[in-house]
Amino acid sequence: MHVLNGEANGLVPDDDGPQLVEPGVWRIPLPLPFALREANVYLIGGADEWVCVDSGLGTPEGDAALRAGLERAGITVERITTLVLTHAHPDHIGLAGLLHAVSGAPIHMLAAEAERLFRVWGDPDLTALTRADAFLAANGMPTADVALIDRANRSVRRAIHLPPEDAISPLADDEHIRLAGMDYRAIWTPGHSDYHLCLLREDGLFIAGDHILPRITPNIGLYPDARPNPLQDYLDALARVRDLPVRLALPGHGLPFADLAGRVDALRAHHAERAAQTLALLAAAPAGTDAYQLAVDLFEGRLRTPDDHRFAVAETLAHLEALRAQGQVERSEHAGHFLYAATAAAAVAIDHSY
Ligand SMILES: [Zn+2]
Repeated sequence: MHVLNGEANGLVPDDDGPQLVEPGVWRIPLPLPFALREANVYLIGGADEWVCVDSGLGTPEGDAALRAGLERAGITVERITTLVLTHAHPDHIGLAGLLHAVSGAPIHMLAAEAERLFRVWGDPDLTALTRADAFLAANGMPTADVALIDRANRSVRRAIHLPPEDAISPLADDEHIRLAGMDYRAIWTPGHSDYHLCLLREDGLFIAGDHILPRITPNIGLYPDARPNPLQDYLDALARVRDLPVRLALPGHGLPFADLAGRVDALRAHHAERAAQTLALLAAAPAGTDAYQLAVDLFEGRLRTPDDHRFAVAETLAHLEALRAQGQVERSEHAGHFLYAATAAAAVAIDHSY
C-alpha cells in the first residue's frame, strides 16, 4: 500500500488486463478499491507446474479478475502448484486462503513475515492495528482521522482470506528453491515490510514485490512492534539488489521493467531529497514539531484521505527515525505526544544526508 497515487496515477493503462509478459509468465492485475487501483498477481508456468506470485485483495472483484486471468492463461485455480507471497500487506495476501483451499498449493514466504501475517490479520480484535492507530495519535494524527483509519482497517480485514497456518512452507534468506523447473534464490529485502521477499530466477527474471516499483515510491513507514529503522533497512536492501543480474523485474504494482539499477538510483535520490526537506523543516521549527505536522508540510496538499495521511505520517516517521539514528534529530515526549527537533549536529551534516 502506498501514498499519493491519484486516480489517474499513470501507473497502468486504463484498459489494463491480463498480459503475457514473456513465454510462461502472465501478469494478472487485480482491482483495488484504493487510489493505487491495482495489485499484480503473476502466474509462472513450466515443467507442468504453475507458480502464483501474490494474491491481490480478496474482494469479489479481485476474485473474479483472478479467475478470468487464469482462464486467459488456460488454467484454473486447481492447477496452481505453489503460491509465493512477497509480503503480508492486504493487497498481496487477500485471496491466499481461497487459492490454497482449492489448489492445496503450499505457500512460500519468509518465516517472520508469515508470523506477522497471522499475528496482525488472524486476530479478530485487530489488536496490532489498534496499537498502530494509537501510535499515529501519539505522533499528532487527529483522533477523527484515526477513527476513520480504524474503520478502513476493519473493512480491509473482511477482504482477507487467510490460509491455515500449516499451509505455510517458510523460506529462509538466500535459500534456493526449484519452482516450475527453474532455480530461484530468496532475497530478504526489508523496508516496505520487515520481512519482504524478492526472488531472483536463474535466468534473470526478478520478482520484485513492492520493494521496487516502476513509477511510484514504495511506502517505507515506521510502525510499532516492527523493526526500528525501516528506512535504513530499505536503503541497505536496495543496495543488496541493485547490481543483481536482472533482465526483467516484475513489480507488485505497475508494469514489468528492465532497468533495475536505474530505478534503485532514482529511489535513493528521492529519499535523499526527502531527508534534506525534513531537516530543513525541522530547522525552521526549533521548538520541535510532530510527525503529523511535518507530513502535512512535506506532502503539501497532496494528502486527501485518512489513508493518505496514515502512510505519509508513517513515512515521515521512518525518515525521522533514520535521522535520529544518525544523531541529526532528537525526539522528546510531552504527555504522550512525540515531538522531533533537529540537533546541533544536523546543521553541519545536512548536505551529507544519505
Ligand atoms: Zn505492500
